Amino acid sequence: MRACLAVWIVGCGLFLAGPAVAQEAAALAGLKQQAIQEIDKRQTFTQQMVDQIFSYSELGFQEVETSRYVTGILEKNGFTVERGIAGIPTAWVASYGSGKPVIAFVTDIDCIPRASQKPGVAYHSPIIEGAPGHGEGHNAGMAVQVTAAIVLKKLMQEHHITGSLRIFPGVAEELLGTKAFLVRAGYFKDVDTVLGAHVESEFSTAYSTGNGEWSGLVSVQYFFHGRAAHSAGAPWSGRSALDAVELMDVGWNFRREHLRLQQRSHYVIMNGGDQPNVVPSEASVWYYFRELDYPHIKELYDLGNTMATAATMMTSTTADHRLVGSAWPPFFNKVIAETQQKNIEAVGMPMWSEADQQLAKALQKEIGEKVDGLKLNVEPLKEPVKQPKGGGSDDVGDISWNVPMTYLMYPANIPHLPGHSWANGVAMATPIAHKGSTAGAKVQAMTALDFLLQPALVEAAWDYFHKVQTKDVHYESFLGPDDKPATETNREKMERFVPELQKFYYDPTRYKTYLEQLGITYPTVKARP
Ligand SMILES: [Zn+2]
Repeated sequence: MRACLAVWIVGCGLFLAGPAVAQEAAALAGLKQQAIQEIDKRQTFTQQMVDQIFSYSELGFQEVETSRYVTGILEKNGFTVERGIAGIPTAWVASYGSGKPVIAFVTDIDCIPRASQKPGVAYHSPIIEGAPGHGEGHNAGMAVQVTAAIVLKKLMQEHHITGSLRIFPGVAEELLGTKAFLVRAGYFKDVDTVLGAHVESEFSTAYSTGNGEWSGLVSVQYFFHGRAAHSAGAPWSGRSALDAVELMDVGWNFRREHLRLQQRSHYVIMNGGDQPNVVPSEASVWYYFRELDYPHIKELYDLGNTMATAATMMTSTTADHRLVGSAWPPFFNKVIAETQQKNIEAVGMPMWSEADQQLAKALQKEIGEKVDGLKLNVEPLKEPVKQPKGGGSDDVGDISWNVPMTYLMYPANIPHLPGHSWANGVAMATPIAHKGSTAGAKVQAMTALDFLLQPALVEAAWDYFHKVQTKDVHYESFLGPDDKPATETNREKMERFVPELQKFYYDPTRYKTYLEQLGITYPTVKARP
C-alpha cells in the first residue's frame, strides 16, 4: 500500500481496468482485517481506559483527571495535544498526520450527578453516597475512539496513508455546554468527516433525523434580584426574588398546555433564597427549552425571556439571564452511515457470557423493565422517521450541521434503562462495556479507513451535506458574541467529592480490572427468594 492509493482510486480509477480496482478493494479489506487484529491485541488497554475514566467520575467542565489521563495517553502515542481550547480548561484537541482528508473523532467524557454506582451490581449500591457517577456511560467513549485512533496511526505509518486524525472530547455534554463553542472557535473548519461515538445497548448508526428522538435546545439560567428585609418585621419593605422565580415557573407551566406537542421544557430552582426570615433578594432558576428546529427553539427562548420579564413586573424585581448551553438537533450523513453500517455488520455483536446476561436480566428485573437481557443482533440501518417527535439533545448537533458526521452507537450497556441514573452505570465497568468498546473501536477504525482511502466517499458525503442536508436549512449558532462557556459549573460540587473519589481511583498497576479492585463478584445479583 502506498500513498498514491487514495489518489489512484479517484483520479485514475475510471480509466483503469477492473482487476486493478478489485486489487485495491482487497487492499482496503486487508487493512481493515489488520485493524481488527490490532484492536483485539489492545483489549486490555481498552478495558483499562473504560475502568479508569469510570473511576474518575467527573461532572461537566470539571473533567480534570479524565482530560489529563486521556491526553497523556495520546501524547505518549505520538499525537500532538493542544489543551484548553475555545476557553474551556478541560477541552483539547489531539492531532496526528497531515493533509486531507481530516477525520475527527468526538466523544463525551462527563458524568451525572448522584449516579455513583458499584459496577457489576444489579441493584442500587453507590460507591460513594450522593457522589457523581457514570450514569450515562460516557466513560467508555474515549476508550473506543483512542483505541481506534492509535491503531489507525500505526496503519497510516506502516502503509504511508495520507490524512489527518483529530480527537476531541465532549466536555460538559450533559450541560450541552461546549460543542457550539468549539464550532464557533473554528475547530471544525478544515475537518472532512466526523465519527462520533456514544454508548448504547445496541450496535447501530443512523442518518438524517434518525429515529426522530432528538431535540435541539437552549439552556438558560434566569437570575432575579429583589430587596432583602425581615420577613416578619418589615415584609412590605422586601421584594422577593423567589416570588419572581415561582411566578415565572407557574406562568410557564400554564403556557405549556398551549405549546406545540414537540416542545419539551424543564427547570430546576438553583437558588431559592437563604432562610425563611430573610426576604430572598437573590433567586435563580435554570431552564432547558427543547424543540425540533432552530426557529422553534428560538421561539421558546424568547417566550422564556418574556415570562421572566413578566415575573419581574409582578414582583417589582429585576432579572437577567445567561445562556449556558445550546444544541442544534443532530442531523447525520447518509453516505457515512451507509459505509459505517457495513462495518457494523462485519464486526457484529460482542460475544456475551452467561455472567453478562445474568447481570443484564437481574438489573432489568430490579428496575421493573422487560427482562430480555443483552441484544444479540446488530440493528439494520433504518429509514429516518418522517415526523420526528423529539427527545433528548446532544451538542454534537452543532458539529453535524457544519461537517458531515455520524454517531456510532456501540453496544456497551444494558437495554431498557432509564438514562441519567445509577442503573445506567451498572454495566459501565464490566465485561459488557469492555467488549462493547472493543467492538465500537473496530467499526470506527474501519470506517476511518474507508474515508482515508477513498476520496470519492469524502466527496459523496459532502455532496449529501450540501445538496440534501443544508439545501434549505442554514446553521446559525444560538451563541451570541458575548456568550462564554460556563466553565465554573460543578466546581464546588466536584471539590466536595474529589477527596472521597480519589480513594477509589482505579489502579491498573495493582488490579487487572476495576471490579477486582473493588472486590466485586461478577455479577452480584439479589439472591432469589
Ligand atoms: Zn450522552
